[in-house]
Parts: sequence; C-alpha cells; structure tokens
Amino acid sequence: MKALVFEKSGLENLKYSEYPDPSPGENDVMIRVKTAGVNPVDLYTVTSHKVNPIPHIPGVEFAGEVVKVGDKVKGVNVGDKVTIYGRVFDGTCDMCMEGYETVCRNGGRIGIDANGGWGEYVSLDQKYVYKVPEGYSWELSSSLTVAGLTAYHSLKVSGLRAGETLVVFGASGNTGMFLVQLGKKFGANVIAVSKKEWLTGYGADVVVDYDGVEDKVRDFTDGKMADVVVNSLGEKFWEKGLQVLGVRGRLITFGTLTGAEVKLNLSQLYSRHIAILGVNRGNRKDFVELINLCKDCKVKTWRKFKLKDGAKALKQLWADNRDGRILIENAE
Ligand SMILES: [Zn+2]
Repeated sequence: MKALVFEKSGLENLKYSEYPDPSPGENDVMIRVKTAGVNPVDLYTVTSHKVNPIPHIPGVEFAGEVVKVGDKVKGVNVGDKVTIYGRVFDGTCDMCMEGYETVCRNGGRIGIDANGGWGEYVSLDQKYVYKVPEGYSWELSSSLTVAGLTAYHSLKVSGLRAGETLVVFGASGNTGMFLVQLGKKFGANVIAVSKKEWLTGYGADVVVDYDGVEDKVRDFTDGKMADVVVNSLGEKFWEKGLQVLGVRGRLITFGTLTGAEVKLNLSQLYSRHIAILGVNRGNRKDFVELINLCKDCKVKTWRKFKLKDGAKALKQLWADNRDGRILIENAE
C-alpha cells in the first residue's frame, strides 16, 4: 500500500512511499482510511517523538471503512464506517480498571506507539474500533478521536453545569470548535475567544477578541466571571485565563502551543477557590458518549490535502491565515 512513512525524525524525512499491507490477526479490524486529521501532535510525531514501529506511519486521528475482520471480531463488519479510540491501553492496570484508559500505566497512542492512519490501510485490535452512526461526515468522524474527545472529556471533568459560563480560548482551533458546540449541549453560556465570527454559527453566545476579554466576560456575567475556562494554548493566555475566572472556577489546560512555563500566584487560587485541571484526551466511555452526542456537531474545514501531500499539510498548521481544520483525504 501507499503511506506516509519516516525512518528518522524530521519533516524532510516523511516520504510518500510503499509500505507492506497490514496483515490483521484474529482480533483485528483492517480499515481503509478515508479521512485523517492533521494535529500538532502529528508534527511532533514526525519531528521529535520516540515512535514504534520504525519505519513509522504517523496519523493519530482518522476514520475509514472496514475492509477485513479477524475470525474473533464481533459487532464490526466489512463495509462499516468506523472511527478509532486512539489511546493504546492494556485493560488490566488499575487506571484501566477504573475506566481511565487515557492514562493507562502501560499505555500509548495509536500513530505514535503503533502505526497510525496516514496510509491507505491500518489494522487495529477491535477494542480500538467504533462504528459511526449514519449521517456522520468523514470530517466529523475523523475529528472525534482527538479534537472531539479532548473537548468532551475536558467539559466532563470540569463539572460544567447548565447555566454556567464557559470561556474557550483558541475557540476556532481543532478542540476549540468542539468545546463551543459541546458547551452548548451541556447547557452553558459560551464565550468564544477568537477573531472568527463563524463561531456564532457553532453556538457561541458571543465571540470576543483576546484584548477585550476581561471586560466582555465581566459584562456578560454581571461581574460574576466565568465558571469554567479552557486554555488549550498555554503560556500566552495563562494570565488572562485566570483573570476571567470567577469564584469556584475551574481552569482546564491541555496544550502548550504558546509555551509551557507559567507564573502562578497561589493566593489567586485559594482566595477564589479555583481548581486547575490537566486533561489528556479521554476515556472509552467518554468516546462512546461523544459519538452519540455529536449527531449535529460541525467541523470547520480550512484545507484538505491528498495523502501524498501530508508534509505540506503539516507545514500549514501555523499558517497566519488558517481558518479551521486541516485534513488529509485518502480518496481514490
Ligand atoms: Zn491500563
């Protein structure tokens, strides 16, 4: 089959080339990949992460059609449209026993610790493969694994309740657009921090610019400030994120694109009863809930690339004019 493959770290080493077809075992499902997401983690996979196997096929987020199933596979059939739960997990450690596969003690990530979806085919144990309901677009199906699941798990652990106010920094990003949509499903008032007005069409009650965010949140909440703030961008938005948080507020963080080192005034935390929570994707139960919840979720796609142009797609991640997701399409 054709795949994007690298043997040595470095974007210049990512080549569109021949790779042996996967040979699915009795518990495996072989998928023909239709659409794959392009995420910062895919870039780090190619440029710096330790990967397995080598030569390696990256791609942590994808959806496709089942083309072959092993003898012991149940509930998934040839022709089914599927997406994947992308955390490698053993199912036997204490975290897995508690339903916390996302931090499995012996865990990893498909696309990093196993071959990912940037090839024509991929074969995975059936425990990672989930059927997608009728009517889900390929764009949405392939965005559930990382963008959707991280957003959904974030909101769950934040304890966001109906009537509360959610502030999303980086609201037009991969996870941001899901946070806005899912925040509304939780019954929250959603303030999107972004320059992109299209977020009102995704459910944001108001879209505010970074510069005026503190005053806007104060006006919107009659001075109470936010109950939950999601900062997926790191350092640059850290201070503002804390400033817009009200008493008993919860701050969620899962990304460090603008830097990972921050200053923290501890008195800000205890005087306002603030909790800071780190999140790393989500669990299988969250994934199943998300798939069922996301019937009307939308994905704003900026650009689609062919599989052979995957390296070009990665270079667009930080384009100034980026306006939505970057996807790889593996159409025939
Ligand atoms: Zn485990």
